[in-house]
Amino acid sequence: AVLGSEASALPPKKKVCVIGAGATGLASAKHVAEYPDEFDLVVFEKNSYVGGLWNYTDSVDVDEHGLPIHTSMYKYLRTNLPKELMAFPDYRDFLGEERSCVKHETVLAYLQNFTDHFNLHQYIQLHTLVEKVETVIGGGDWHSTTYKVHTRNLDDDTKSVTVCNALMIGNGHYFNPRIPSIPGMDTFPGRVLHSHTYRKPEDFAGQTVAVLGASASGTDISIEVAETAQKVYLSHNKDRIKSELPANVEQVSGVVAVDGNTLTLKDGMTITADAFIFCTGFTFTYPFLDESSGIKVIDNQVYPLYKHLVNIEHPSMAFVGLPLLVVHFPLFHVQAKYFVALLRDEFKLPSKEIMMKDTELNGRRQRYAHFLGDAQWDYNDALAKEAGFEPIPSYYREGYAMWHAYRTAKVLHYKESDLRIDENGKPTIVNPK
Ligand code: FAD
Repeated sequence: AVLGSEASALPPKKKVCVIGAGATGLASAKHVAEYPDEFDLVVFEKNSYVGGLWNYTDSVDVDEHGLPIHTSMYKYLRTNLPKELMAFPDYRDFLGEERSCVKHETVLAYLQNFTDHFNLHQYIQLHTLVEKVETVIGGGDWHSTTYKVHTRNLDDDTKSVTVCNALMIGNGHYFNPRIPSIPGMDTFPGRVLHSHTYRKPEDFAGQTVAVLGASASGTDISIEVAETAQKVYLSHNKDRIKSELPANVEQVSGVVAVDGNTLTLKDGMTITADAFIFCTGFTFTYPFLDESSGIKVIDNQVYPLYKHLVNIEHPSMAFVGLPLLVVHFPLFHVQAKYFVALLRDEFKLPSKEIMMKDTELNGRRQRYAHFLGDAQWDYNDALAKEAGFEPIPSYYREGYAMWHAYRTAKVLHYKESDLRIDENGKPTIVNPK
């Protein structure tokens, strides 16, 4: 009887489902798992491993279960951010490499070590694909909404339904290529691919390659392909990259039409190419969400979200890891901590009217709705303030400002330098080129 009364005195635990065990899902799981008396946690991951897109494979087609390959990682990728900034604030040990811009396998090992360190394996169900999520409105406030998460075990094909009180979605957004339509593209006789399926420069030895798009991947892939290709055209409509590039990389304006091997550019010039790589980004997709979620994705704006994170219609549903042009891992940390504080009623959300203001584009195109860039630091600090926890250390902001300026000026050589943070939290670039 005593046991019974003690048990009934405990508040009922909330069930929290996390979708995906990439960096986002792992950060989410870590913060939920800090409250074992309050939350029951389960993480569903379709792959047979944690770490998401940092699991490199030569394969570009389908995996052993016939599902499209998730990762967009390429063979020789080194990070474009120093590990000193990539690391989560609560787990700084990037083991194995002294250099700041580490190989993809080092990041994967870091995420695996993070999983071990915080004992997260016990919550993670691998080989488990989330196929559908139904949102079921309860009778009370937003806490009474539940989610029916339909999953399929990819090994034995058994299906299950898990009912949970909160959902943290971390399925990633670099797996569904966005390919603009260019008149005549179907007449191009050479190899056409998207950065999602780019793997290694050897595949382009001796060729002339057109790379469309000069964001992080377009620039990085152009420099890499230039090692084996005869010539690379980096085609884009942004301001010209002023930094030194390999001698065989030429910046040209965007491709507007294709006729066989001949590409017509925005400025009227023509070039010829043997291969074409689209580095034109990705389309966000949540194939498991139906209308009951209240969420629409319009040209990569996930709507309606408060703070790029909380579903305004059902605030117990979060889209963790959505912002772009950010230092990802520390931002995931802040978002996960914020959302867990919300679930614990440590703070109250503002009115729906005020939250809806957050969805306004203020002149931006929808496609850029979740681009944060320099605004990420105030964003991180605002979340910490609203939820009442310590902001992340200021060396992230200062180190990134330093690194970003350096990277922009030295596109070709910045990965040979390192960023160090001293014991007083002061960042410095060492071995500058
Ligand atoms: P992912 O790593 O994509 O993980 C999502 C997980 O969800 C996957 O494991 C997937 O299998 C699972 N999943 C998806 N759908 C389902 C479903 N229906 N059911 C079950 N599971 C599902 N960031 C940096 O900080 N530094 C860098 O240098 C850097 N370089 C990058 C280079 C490239 C080429 C790319 C594409 C990204 C790079 N990033 C970099 C950004 C990177 O996206 C983030 O750092 C981060 O790893 C993303 O983690 P995620 O968990 O959001 O997504």
